Amino acid sequence: MSEQVYGRVALIGLGLIASSMFWAMKRAGLAGEVTGYARSEETRATARKIGLCDRVCDSAREAVKDADLVVLCVPVGAMGPVMEDIAPVLKPGATVSDVGSVKRHVIEAVQPHIPEGVHFVPAHPLAGTEHSGPESGFAELFDNRWSLLVPVEGTDPEATARLRALWEGMGANVDEMDADHHDLVLAVTSHTPHLIAYTMVGVADDLRRVTDSEVIKYSAAGFRDFTRIAASDPTMWRDVFLTNKDATLEILGRFTEELFALQRAIRTGDGEHLHDYFTHTRAIRRGIIEAGQDTDAPDFGRGQKK
Ligand code: NAP
Repeated sequence: MSEQVYGRVALIGLGLIASSMFWAMKRAGLAGEVTGYARSEETRATARKIGLCDRVCDSAREAVKDADLVVLCVPVGAMGPVMEDIAPVLKPGATVSDVGSVKRHVIEAVQPHIPEGVHFVPAHPLAGTEHSGPESGFAELFDNRWSLLVPVEGTDPEATARLRALWEGMGANVDEMDADHHDLVLAVTSHTPHLIAYTMVGVADDLRRVTDSEVIKYSAAGFRDFTRIAASDPTMWRDVFLTNKDATLEILGRFTEELFALQRAIRTGDGEHLHDYFTHTRAIRRGIIEAGQDTDAPDFGRGQKK
C-alpha cells in the first residue's frame, strides 16, 4: 500500500483511462474518495454497477465539489467546454489535470478557465488499448509505462510534485516535458502510426479483402496489429488529428519522403539500400525492448493483457 496522495479525486469522463486510474488508485490506496461523472446516463449506470468510483455523480459540478484533484478524462475536443462548466465550483487550492493525448491544444482550451488559486498540471499517460468505455480499464495499465507531465509556466512545483507522486503510485514512470515537444514526439510515436494503420486497413478494405477468411487466417502480427490499432476509438482519434495538426503533417511529410525512397529502391532493385534500412530499424526495435517498453514475444505480450 502506498500513502494517500489526495483526499478526494474527481474523474470527469469514465472511459478506459479514467477507469484504469480508479483501479490503480484503489490498488495502492492513493486517494481517500474518488468521485466520477460521465456524460451519458448509460455510462453512469454501468459505472455504478461495476463499482467504478466510490460515488458516481449526475453532474460534473457535483463530482468536482470539494475535490483536491480533478482529472479531465474526456476526448481532447471536449476538455475546454467541460472545464468551463466546472470552473465556478472548484475548491480553492485544488489541482486540475487531464490525460489528453495532445497537450498544446488542451492547454489553450483549458487554461483560460482555470480560476485564481487553482493549479493546472496537464498530463498524458503513454498507455492504452484499442478498447474504450467504463468496463475497459484495469489497474495494471500504467505499470512501467511513461506518464508525461506538462506543467505550464508559473505552476506551483508542489502541485506538480503531488501529481507526480500519484502517477508513480499508479505504477508509471514520470517525466516532464514542454507542450510543443510533447506534441511532436507523440506525432512520431503514436499519432502518425495510428494514421498509417487506419490507412492500411482502409487500403485492404478497398481491395475488398479485409473480411476474406484468407486475410484473417494468414494475418500474422503485421496486418493483424494494424487492424487492432485501427479499431481505436473514432472520437478520440478524430480529436487527436484535428488538434495536433501541425506536428502530424510535419511527420507525415517526412514519412512520405522515406516511403518514396523505399519505393524507388524497390523499383530500381537497390537491395543494399533496403537491407541497410531494415538493419537500422531492427536495431531501434531492440532498443525499445531493452528499455522495457515492450516484450520480445511474437504477439508483443499483448495476449496477456485485456
Ligand atoms: P473513452 O474510453 O472513449 O471514454 C471517454 C469518456 O469521456 C466517456 O466517459 C464519455 O462519456 C466521456 N465524454 C465523451 N465526450 C464527452 C463530452 N463531449 N463531454 C463530456 N464527456 C464526454 O476514452 P479514453 O480512451 O479513456 O480517453 C480519454 C482521454 O484520454 C482522451 O483525451 C484521450 O486522448 C486520452 N488518452 C487515451 C488513450 C488511449 O489509448 N485510449 C491513451 C492516453 C490518453 P460517455 O461514455 O457518457 O459518452
